[in-house]
Amino acid sequence: MKKKFSTLAVITSLGLVLSGCSSSDSNSDASGIKVVAAMYPLEFVATSIGGDLVSVENFTPPGVEPHDLELSPSQVVTLDDADLLLFISGFQPALEEAAQQSAPANSLDLLTIDGLNLLTATEDGHDDGAEDEHVDEEAHSDEEMVSDPHVWLDPERLVVIAKAVASKLSEVDPDNSEVYATNLAAFVAELETLDQKFLTGLASCERDLIVTSHAAFGYLADAYGLSQEAIAGLSPESEPTPKRLNEIGKEAKADGTTTIFFETLASPKIAQTLADDLNIEAAVLDPIEGISEGETYFSVMESNLEALRKALNCK
Ligand SMILES: [Zn+2]
Repeated sequence: MKKKFSTLAVITSLGLVLSGCSSSDSNSDASGIKVVAAMYPLEFVATSIGGDLVSVENFTPPGVEPHDLELSPSQVVTLDDADLLLFISGFQPALEEAAQQSAPANSLDLLTIDGLNLLTATEDGHDDGAEDEHVDEEAHSDEEMVSDPHVWLDPERLVVIAKAVASKLSEVDPDNSEVYATNLAAFVAELETLDQKFLTGLASCERDLIVTSHAAFGYLADAYGLSQEAIAGLSPESEPTPKRLNEIGKEAKADGTTTIFFETLASPKIAQTLADDLNIEAAVLDPIEGISEGETYFSVMESNLEALRKALNCK
């Protein structure tokens, strides 16, 4: 009995050693580089560049607003085992906390990438270029400015991000760096085509003000000469004061705004109420913080362009 038990123990530990060997080799076999993406746009970049060489897990489940992400115990294990974590600092605190406890082998914080030309805003979504009246500026002067995390909504900035992700993947998996470079070139070409469509499509419009549900479109506005007034701040949770809603209503009226934009993942209630009050339309402008079945970043951006062209009456 005793002998049998020890034999079993030997076999078991041998099995562990063997499986330990094979899993340490897994970077170069079919299971690929294990990438954890904090949310959909990062998953999209990682799969576009990594192709079959990577297995990407998006930590924000379908239908969940990524600002609210909470981690499950199994996600913490996945994170611990990951070859590369792609995230945006200051966006999903639960993920950053977990990443500090169970460190993935490599990580890339998008907001540390050179050449992104980050925009800053207060949490309530006022950007530093806003033409607020003097009183408002003083009221905000002691509010902390933070980096706007919604960098993926400008295709040109997403090119910079894609290049950084490609070089990170080549660093983690140098044997396949040529494949990553080839995939990157194709992805960048697609992003540049999209950028051209936005430049052309928004070149000649009657208006340039977009009233959005939360302040997700600062980079898109920056890229194409639009100005954004957001009902909520950088996070959809920051509810506007009645005073703020009143200001936005007045501004929309003065501008001749025809559309208040709302989102697919956050509640459309406030945007819809504002649109009803002003007797104008409410339409979707999608910040692509998540994705619906059958859609991609490119298809949603094309829909966003159409929505913008209609709302701003572009030629
Ligand atoms: Zn957001």
